[in-house]
Amino acid sequence: LSERLQKALRNLTGKGKISEEDINAASREIRLALLEADVNFKVVKDFIKTIKKRALGQEVQESLTPGQQVIKIVNEELTKMMGEEAVGLTKSPHIPTVIMMVGLQGTGKTTTVGKLAYRLMKEEKARPFLIAGDIYRPAAIDQLKQIGADLKVPVYSDPEEKSVAKIVEDGLAEAAVHRNDYVIIDTAGRLEIDEPLMKELEEVKAVSQPDNILLVVDAMTGQVAADVAKTFNERLDVTGVILTKLDGDTRGGAALSIRAITGKPILFTGQGEKLTDLEVFHPDRMASRILGMGDMLTLIEKAQQDYDAKQAEKVAQKMRENTFDFNDFIDQLEQVQKMGPLDEIMKMIPGMANNPQLKNFSIDEKQIAHTKAIVYSMTPAEREDESLLNPSRRRRIAAGSGVPIVEVNRMIKEFKTAKDMMSKVTKGNFKDLEKLPGM
Ligand code: GDP
Ligand code: MG
Repeated sequence: LSERLQKALRNLTGKGKISEEDINAASREIRLALLEADVNFKVVKDFIKTIKKRALGQEVQESLTPGQQVIKIVNEELTKMMGEEAVGLTKSPHIPTVIMMVGLQGTGKTTTVGKLAYRLMKEEKARPFLIAGDIYRPAAIDQLKQIGADLKVPVYSDPEEKSVAKIVEDGLAEAAVHRNDYVIIDTAGRLEIDEPLMKELEEVKAVSQPDNILLVVDAMTGQVAADVAKTFNERLDVTGVILTKLDGDTRGGAALSIRAITGKPILFTGQGEKLTDLEVFHPDRMASRILGMGDMLTLIEKAQQDYDAKQAEKVAQKMRENTFDFNDFIDQLEQVQKMGPLDEIMKMIPGMANNPQLKNFSIDEKQIAHTKAIVYSMTPAEREDESLLNPSRRRRIAAGSGVPIVEVNRMIKEFKTAKDMMSKVTKGNFKDLEKLPGM
């Protein structure tokens, strides 16, 4: 699908303002991309509306094509929707900071308790205390105890007690005695939301007054995850979300839906089963993952940062007028070099990474260095007018630049050929850049 999106956007060439046509072509594909990433259809509808409103009539930046400009807007809006900045845990002004985990069965609550404890120990030298609040399956308590043993962290449990709220209360009292700075409460889940579960969680919330109620949702369940999040949030007013199993084959559409539907931030993502597999949630990275655009966005950023559009226009004009000289040539080489190795840039274009043609598209950095040395050894007059370069001047340049005379001759010859060719070339055409000296 992302290929289809790219194709649609590639067709948006031209310059100037983004037209209605551009947007319609792009939004059709964006809609499909989002739906395929399992974003809730209502969220998609609203999103497309926002994009259309914002993009229409917008100036296309000189360094971008309309397609790239639309992607940029889409990416910015996606990022905005997911909260822009990474959000951390809420800390209590006095110990302990209480974290309560909630979510359906099998989403990864117990695993995430361990991951959070590990993270807090590592980053803050914290001393977390765990409470086993899932009393319905003996295995659940053992699972948490095992995690506690692995981390050398205390786990409070009471197999005799039938009230989870009471267990939590007792656990908190014990943590207070030992002055633990974090208490993480593991709770039971169900396969589906039911009233007894919600009641129990409300009781736990009441006795523990948690600073954080973290809803754990399984990213692989897509839209279901968003519906579940809505109900949990309505009943418990969760403070944040942890999206697990993002290491699975998912485009992360759930992230967008959950945020849009609950308005609550996603704090962390689970990226595997190990204790270390918990990552801070970055809205911008998730946006590009949802779009399936890979490093396309990085490429757009690079183009924006490094490509001086005015400079490019000046050079293009010189090319057309055939007054392109060695000074412009050096400027141009430097622009290209600023963007990083060209073959790396080519690889960021979706579909290019595995393109066999890319193998032949290698840049000889050494050759570029020689070319620069040769130009720097020319006098200002010579740089502006290559016809001055008679044999004795060429010998002087060779001596000055430390480059053999044959190479100086070849470079000048290539420059002349390039200059002829360039007067026909439109800017941004990589194919023709290939024929330039040093490339
Ligand atoms: P709970 O019922 O909500 O407590 O869920 P568990 O913590 O017991 O996790 C259920 C299963 O999901 C276990 O097999 C975990 O190893 C697995 N799991 C949890 N988080 C992740 C994750 O981020 N990635 C992957 N691949 N598996 C996970
Ligand atoms: Mg569990």
